[in-house]
Amino acid sequence: THRFSGRLAIVTGAASGIGFAITERLAAQGATVIAVDRDADGLARLPEGIETVIADVTDPALPDTLSKALAGRPLAILVNNAGVGGGGRADETSAEDVRRYFEINVLPVFMLSKFAVGEMRRTGGGAIVNIASIYAIVGATGSAGYSTSKAAVDGMTRQMATDFGPENIRVNAVAPGLIETPLTAERIRTETWRKHVFIEQAPLRRVGMPGEVADAVAFLASDEAAFITGATLRVDGGWAVG
Ligand code: NAD
Repeated sequence: THRFSGRLAIVTGAASGIGFAITERLAAQGATVIAVDRDADGLARLPEGIETVIADVTDPALPDTLSKALAGRPLAILVNNAGVGGGGRADETSAEDVRRYFEINVLPVFMLSKFAVGEMRRTGGGAIVNIASIYAIVGATGSAGYSTSKAAVDGMTRQMATDFGPENIRVNAVAPGLIETPLTAERIRTETWRKHVFIEQAPLRRVGMPGEVADAVAFLASDEAAFITGATLRVDGGWAVG
């Protein structure tokens, strides 16, 4: 249970859903966690002892803010989880919509990973885990902007794994299937096609829970994954192969 004792982690999008569960999990396993989100109320619901930074991940000043929050302490783990979902078919999606998905879901992952690498290389290594999506991997009808942005995160994971592996910085991704969070709960209840597609066509015949994604993230961030980099771990109840 003290897998991460003495290690400091930054988790973005920590105020809700999957990021909240990741923050709780890493902290329960001994990590000091700096939780980043633009939602101050959600951050306030995290367990005691978690450090919080109220910020938008698109803010170009965020690396400076995080540098101050670290206050010289070594950074071991970065989890790039903040993201927005939704969207429509490609012929109903404007270039502006696509740009917005890239600004929120992709560029902050690039910027914060570069910041993290700068910190991690001073102390001999670290682990970055990006939250992509099963929609980064399979055809994602009705999700043009979102799936394209998550595919970029998935590709960036492999790219950075090659650049930073020689410095013992591992970069991996988790690709969740449908997980019940505030982002998706209403749609799971009301959109029967979604239930049909994601539950009846998934070998495990159910949606996932945030804690099940957190377990996969904790594994990839831990020493148990010491020889794993550039990997994308699907956490989807087998949906992609169903
Ligand atoms: P959520 O909406 O419950 O939580 C997302 C959190 O990110 C929120 O607290 C929100 O405030 C924060 N956030 C969003 N944009 C931000 C910004 N610009 N700056 C700072 N914080 C910001 O969603 P979730 O379902 O927990 O999703 C978390 C991640 O998992 C996302 O990247 C999402 O794309 C991905 N994902 C979710 C599912 C799913 O089924 N829920 C499936 C695949 C991938």
